[in-house]
Order: sequence, then C-alpha cells, then structure tokens
Amino acid sequence: MIHKDTKYTNFKITNHEISQIFHKTFICKPNRKLNLYVIILCNLVVSIGCTNEVPQFDGERAYQSLVKLVDFGPRAPGSTGHENALRYLLDELSIVADRVQRQDFLVPFNHSPFNHLTDSLKLTNIIASFDIEKGNRILLCSHWDTRPWADQDPNPDNQKKPILGANDGASGVACLLELARIIKNQKPRYGVDIVLFDGEDLGKSEWREEVLYSGYLLGSAHFAKSTIRGTGYRPQFGILIDMVGDRDLEIYIEGNSNQFAPEWVRRVFEKAKGIPQFHPEIRHFVTDDHIPLNEAGIPTLLLIDFDYPYWHTLEDTPDKCSPESLQAVGDLLIRVLYED
Ligand SMILES: [Zn+2]
Repeated sequence: MIHKDTKYTNFKITNHEISQIFHKTFICKPNRKLNLYVIILCNLVVSIGCTNEVPQFDGERAYQSLVKLVDFGPRAPGSTGHENALRYLLDELSIVADRVQRQDFLVPFNHSPFNHLTDSLKLTNIIASFDIEKGNRILLCSHWDTRPWADQDPNPDNQKKPILGANDGASGVACLLELARIIKNQKPRYGVDIVLFDGEDLGKSEWREEVLYSGYLLGSAHFAKSTIRGTGYRPQFGILIDMVGDRDLEIYIEGNSNQFAPEWVRRVFEKAKGIPQFHPEIRHFVTDDHIPLNEAGIPTLLLIDFDYPYWHTLEDTPDKCSPESLQAVGDLLIRVLYED
C-alpha cells in the first residue's frame, strides 16, 4: 500500500501554473539562460506528471461521499432521498466521466412504503463511461438504492422502516465516485464503465418461487437484458463491490464469483496480496448484482464482506464504516486498473 500522505495530486501541476511560473520568471529576470533553465524545469515537472505513476486512492474523501449519500436519508426507490441522491450522483459523475447515461425503467411493484398509490416503480441505472473509444474495457459496479425495510432489525417496531444503508448502498458507490475522480486525471489500462444499479434491494426471500431473483437485482437484470444481451458490449470482466465499508472489513472470495469467473477471482486476489483485509479463501455464496451479469456472459466477481451485524437494520450507519476500509478496497481497485 502506498503511504497515505503521498497524494497523487502532489505530482500534478496545471498548464496554467506552468505558464504562471514561466511568466513570472520572464518578467522578473529577462535572462536567456535562466529562461532556458525554467523551460527545462517545466518540462521535467510535466514529464513527472505524465509518467505511469500509480495514483493514490483517498479513503477519507470516499468516506465523505459515503456520509453525503447517507445525509440524503433512506434512498429506497420512490423516496425523496432516492430522488436527491440520483441528482447528486448524476452531477458528480458528469463532472469527471467522458459520458454519463441514465437508464430509466419501470418495474411492476407495489410493496414499497414509498409508493402505495401506484403499481409500478421508476428505477434508474447510472452508467458513467471513460475512454469511450477503447475496446479493452472493465465494468465496475455497485448498487445505489437502499432497502425499504429493516427486516433484520432486532426490534420488530423497526422492521418496516427503511434503512440508511451506509454500508449496504453507500459504501460501494462512495468508492466508485472516488475512483471516477482519479480516472479523470489519469487514464488506466482499460476503458472503464462505472455502473450504479438501482433496485438491488427490493426483494424478499419468501418470494423465491414467485419472481426472478426473488425480486432483488432489478437494476442489474435490466442492464443485462438491455445493454449486454444481443449487443456488442463485451467488457473483459466486471467487479461488483457491495458492503465494503464495514469498519471491521474482512473480504473473502465469494462462492458464486469463483464458479462464474475463477480466473478473474484468482488474478484480483493475487493483486490483493499484502492488503490485510483480503483473504483468498471462499466464504459465503451471495446473490447479488453480479449474477445477472455473469448469466449474460460478462465474467464478474463480487467483493463483499457479508459478516456485518448491522445488515438490513436501522443501525447500518456511517459510524459502523471507516475510511480505512474504503481505502483497502480502493487500493485494490487501483492496482487492478493501473498495475500490469
Ligand atoms: Zn441489502
């Protein structure tokens, strides 16, 4: 891991700053030799800025994004928090990505505490693309919606209330927002598509027989149907991150990922060597947004810490998460994107 104080931005100098340096020196000391020296120095600074230096992920800044998302309140589809968070995410990604698309779709659904009056719910996937022309692509994804019911809360009075989803909903998105800011400044080896899925957490396990994926994974299922199947879109592989903010973060290999995408699991966990939060052993099989993607032919692995005592409770709040955990996941994603 790169020491946290060594920020990538330390190496950056803008063209404006370069011209300022040159201008000031030229005005103060009209000396040919010195001007030449300044030009050489500027070229040196520019070349340092352009080397294949591996950029630094900022876990603190990612954590601030997590808090910002939670401050919108529950982001269950149909809620005001959902609407406001959508606007925030579109705004943030539009600043840094080469192209941002919103993928709106309707699902038949009348179980949400936020839409008693209609039989359908409007959901939105967000797709932020970088280096659009590049053929060699990677898909990085997470879900941005939060669960409308805290059905695992030990207090029965809370079980119909919506969760804040600091870990389950905000942590993965916060990591990807920070990564997007980095990708804007330094191109990785791959063209990158960051996809934020809606409607991941609207399912119930008792619906197992009735509906596809028990009502979970609505956004990724829609994305697989409309953007992958029958199209030429074929990223080399995908990484889904979900519940990666737990302050006691321990990430193991997820079982379904190992069945669908064993080679990518091996490669990614190889890169995780030396990051203490990652363990190259299988634990848990989780149904998550990587399933529809794998079924549509994109090998996708899930990074998740599923041992989180506040899962689907009202206690899933920012104090249960930490900048250090987001840093660990960000460091790994940086290695995947920038190291050979
Ligand atoms: Zn969940």
